[in-house]
Amino acid sequence: MNLPTQLFLDGTHRNSASAHRTTLINPATEEPLAEVTAADVTDVNAAVESAQRAWESGWRDLAPGKRTEILFNVSRALRENLERIAQLDLLSIGKPISDARDEAGLGARVFEYYAGAVGKFFGQTIPVARGGFDFTLRQSMGVVATIVPWNFPFPIACWKVAPALAAGNCVVLKPASLSPLTALALGEIAHAAGLPPGVLQVLPGSGATVGDALVTHPLIRKVSFTGSTEIGRRIMELASRDIKRVSLELGGKSPNIIFSDADWQRAAETSPMSVFANTGQDCCARSRVFIERSIYEPFVEKFVAATKQLIVGDPSKPETQLGPMVSAGQRASAEEFLADARQRGSKFASGGGRPHAKGFYLEPTVLLNVGKEDRCWREEIFGPVVAIMPFDDEAQMLREVNASPYGLSGSIWTNNLQRALRVSRAVQSGVLSVNSHSSVHVEAPFGGFKSSGLGRDLGMNAMEGYTELKNVYVAE
Ligand code: NAD
Ligand code: MN
Repeated sequence: MNLPTQLFLDGTHRNSASAHRTTLINPATEEPLAEVTAADVTDVNAAVESAQRAWESGWRDLAPGKRTEILFNVSRALRENLERIAQLDLLSIGKPISDARDEAGLGARVFEYYAGAVGKFFGQTIPVARGGFDFTLRQSMGVVATIVPWNFPFPIACWKVAPALAAGNCVVLKPASLSPLTALALGEIAHAAGLPPGVLQVLPGSGATVGDALVTHPLIRKVSFTGSTEIGRRIMELASRDIKRVSLELGGKSPNIIFSDADWQRAAETSPMSVFANTGQDCCARSRVFIERSIYEPFVEKFVAATKQLIVGDPSKPETQLGPMVSAGQRASAEEFLADARQRGSKFASGGGRPHAKGFYLEPTVLLNVGKEDRCWREEIFGPVVAIMPFDDEAQMLREVNASPYGLSGSIWTNNLQRALRVSRAVQSGVLSVNSHSSVHVEAPFGGFKSSGLGRDLGMNAMEGYTELKNVYVAE
């Protein structure tokens, strides 16, 4: 297959002003996959300036119907290229092919949603002083920088780029070093479908070089970031110098709360994939299970049995549920957590080892007897590790849930309506699901409380986040 390995600037693939390249490794085989050009500061300046010109000279003033048409064409072209997009994430990050296809479809769906949103997003007229007329405008910002991680590289890129473009901005997209291929493909496919040159620039490269240069560039009006809390904090600090707008989707340590009145058998069967999907490399992973004590033992038994049935292996096979972790470093980091759990005397009810000799695989691991101060209970692992803890009292359990500095997602299992509503109100997180494990809906806001982030992706909330609100008063 032909892999995109150059920067995507002004509607064409280009080499960098520098000679830096990043070697991609296929995590399922540990074999080198491709050498990708890494952008440097000169490329960032060129990309931002050209995006600014594209904004001023046309994109911001395009008739809504025309912008809708172009974004619909992009969506259609993404669907036509669905298999290619899926293969690129399969090869570069070990994404199981069935997930990779779903995520490619999700990206196309996101473009469709925002194509339709263009003409349905507008200001208001407001009655103010007598004899005057007051109205608001939702105006595009200019050039937006979007910086995305490697775990869901394609859909996250789409759900930042599409609303930013729909709102009339131009975009510079920086993919993670480990996952540049689908971002580059997005640039290429979008331009072939009619997006004018310069409106979307794609710059692979290191976070320290490209990320910092984007976040401090005076023409960048907003930075939309998904990644670790540590880097999010740094971006917010740098952005504060010129009061750049930021939206941050950061880490999580999401709870999965199961009451004894729930269909807990179904919860036990479905909960393993709520933490182990994407080999646990998911910001919404339900990595802390709170289970009411009266059903603790049968629940754990079912949960462990379901975990042992998960198919871990070659991501190119359609039946595979868990592929390798993304890199040797990511696996080593998860294994440090496991070493800590062993030292602290946690019980490994399942997993803990490497299931295959080749590839960065790690078994889905179920920990019991974890202490509330242990790293595995408190910190985001970003690997296939879950800790299960019994609880006796709802209020006490909620205090422990909310003691986390994170607040991204979570699940609540109960058949008692009052309890479902009460607990949904009480859990401090941006996204919750009752009797299900969903987190992401294209039409609904997605984002975190507390250290899990700032601002919202998806839904019409994302459109708001890519505009400035202007108020105009006209005296009569
Ligand atoms: P990361 O923070 O290391 O990297 C994310 C992106 O930031 C990458 O493109 C990286 O190159 C870039 N970057 C690195 N240093 C930078 C700097 N100094 N300035 C600007 N950009 C910089 O995160 P990761 O390891 O790619 O992804 C894992 C993390 O992402 C986890 O903490 C996870 O919870 C989080 N995540 C959150 C969400 C969400 O929606 N809340 C979704 C996916 C992942
Ligand atoms: Mn990282």
